[in-house]
Amino acid sequence: MDWTNPHYRSNAQFDGINPSLHTPISPDGRPVIGERYTLAARQGVAVVLRQGERLQLINPHGSQVCDLWAFCADGLHEFMSMEHVRAQLSRTVPRAGDPLCTNRRRPILTLLDDSSPGVHDTLIAACDLPRYRSLGVPHYHDNCSDNLRLALAAIGRHTQEVPAPFNVWMNNPVDGDGNIGWLPPVSQPGDSISLRAEMDAVLVMSACPQDVVPVNGADCVPRELAFCVHMATA
Ligand SMILES: [Zn+2]
Repeated sequence: MDWTNPHYRSNAQFDGINPSLHTPISPDGRPVIGERYTLAARQGVAVVLRQGERLQLINPHGSQVCDLWAFCADGLHEFMSMEHVRAQLSRTVPRAGDPLCTNRRRPILTLLDDSSPGVHDTLIAACDLPRYRSLGVPHYHDNCSDNLRLALAAIGRHTQEVPAPFNVWMNNPVDGDGNIGWLPPVSQPGDSISLRAEMDAVLVMSACPQDVVPVNGADCVPRELAFCVHMATA
């Protein structure tokens, strides 16, 4: 099949390649429990969690946004869905203790803890190559959509679509007139959130490579993230 023909092109196809394709944490995405991993700036990674396990996502510099997705391990057509989460919670941003549901309205994660001020985004689509084109970038630019596709491919999985991500630490306030702002994160160095898997799930994190709009700090420098998976507790 000619994948360059737009007629045949699937949204699962990446627009370019970066090291996310070749640097999985393991061949099947299973983590070493308790090990602290670094997610390099501008890259993505997939982590397979079993029900009850907890992911701690850490912002070492405080200024970095993480695009986060969660898919049912049994079939990636079911995934954490921001529009369903907002309807279930009747608010735009989840808080500690909130369940995060799928497009089938089943809980897939629970946001357990949040040491940051709780400013996150559920409204903005993942960045992608057309987004950078629209911002005037003429060449290939790392992007969260490709990081999702590449990180899944690195563990032998793929998704047909790029769901709206949970944009952890992204600061896009909506004013009373409905206008959306694009501001640096208010999180501090070392802030973290913890999420519990409510079913076996494939999580994907992208250290957003946005360096045109100041969502990753006023200096527009994307930086690394860190994460650790903890065992299920009774
Ligand atoms: Zn991004």
